[in-house]
Amino acid sequence: MVVVMRPGTEQRDIDQLIAGFQKMGLEVGITNGVGCTILGLVGDTTAVDMGKISINPHVERVMRVQEPYKKANRKFHPEDTVVDVQGVRIGGGHFGVIAGPCSVESEEQVTGIAKAVKESGAQLFRGGAFKPRTSPYSFQGLGTDGLDLLLEAKADSGLPVVSELMAPRYVELFEEKVDLVQIGARNMQNFDLLKEVGKMSKPVLLKRGLSNTYEEWIMSAEYIMAGGNENVILCERGVRTFETFTRNTLDLSAIPAVRRMSHLPIVVDPSHAAGMYWMVEPLALAATAIGCDGLIIEVHNDPAHAKCDGQQSLTPEKFDELMKKVNSLRAWREGRQD
Ligand code: PEP
Ligand code: MN
Repeated sequence: MVVVMRPGTEQRDIDQLIAGFQKMGLEVGITNGVGCTILGLVGDTTAVDMGKISINPHVERVMRVQEPYKKANRKFHPEDTVVDVQGVRIGGGHFGVIAGPCSVESEEQVTGIAKAVKESGAQLFRGGAFKPRTSPYSFQGLGTDGLDLLLEAKADSGLPVVSELMAPRYVELFEEKVDLVQIGARNMQNFDLLKEVGKMSKPVLLKRGLSNTYEEWIMSAEYIMAGGNENVILCERGVRTFETFTRNTLDLSAIPAVRRMSHLPIVVDPSHAAGMYWMVEPLALAATAIGCDGLIIEVHNDPAHAKCDGQQSLTPEKFDELMKKVNSLRAWREGRQD
């Protein structure tokens, strides 16, 4: 349920109403919008008498929210959420670019790529240390050592780091070493993991599941937010369709649709959507053109010998060309001349 207060209502009148809701066992989210305050009630609102609330002279409007997601719902929080990752802001007009290899392989590899992508304008460095591979015989990642190499790349480049968390037993390790915790497509509905991530202090990059609807995806964000961690960035990375030419089908409709449903930032991963390096640039530009809040791009110094996802990785040179095009497209979208 959403309660919109009248513009200019005194804080003590708002507090009084909030205290009443809290007494009923409800959690109250408060959004201070331009000129008015919005209260989002979470919990069992069946006992709330809408008529009684709407006659309160300080209340402008009361609405029941039909959707099962509350904290992630734009009705609860009309303004865009801006997620801050160690000073890098994503959402609400702040565009964030995450780049780096699919998996961490060696110190030279990560420090070299981090330096290159930073020079091209990436603000966050990605690298998988625990890899969710389809085959148990494929490279599974360097584990904890991989996270330590990522930290060396961070110390060297100054870029905060992003890495995928696959199991609740590594939560403490990630809390200590990683700046943005990635939940991969295969774990989007691992609810035990989502509950643990909800207790973390680090922001989360929540990838869309291989065959999940927008609502299921937002419900997974709701799991994390319900635990107290409201810093969630959604990531569209392509979904399974009947098409087999591409690895997945990038669902660009997700950007305007999910933006309407939720206030959370939406970034796009064209690398895992396409599965081929030469499709990364057009898909990244298309996503930028229709207003995503950022990109996550796989970049490898030697794609032909990458331990994972080399076929879809850009070289640092190709990434640099892409960044120039992304920047001029963004300038054009914003009506700037540069
Ligand atoms: C990845 O980012 O390397 C990855 C495994 O992505 P996804 O979960 O989207 O497949
Ligand atoms: Mn990958």
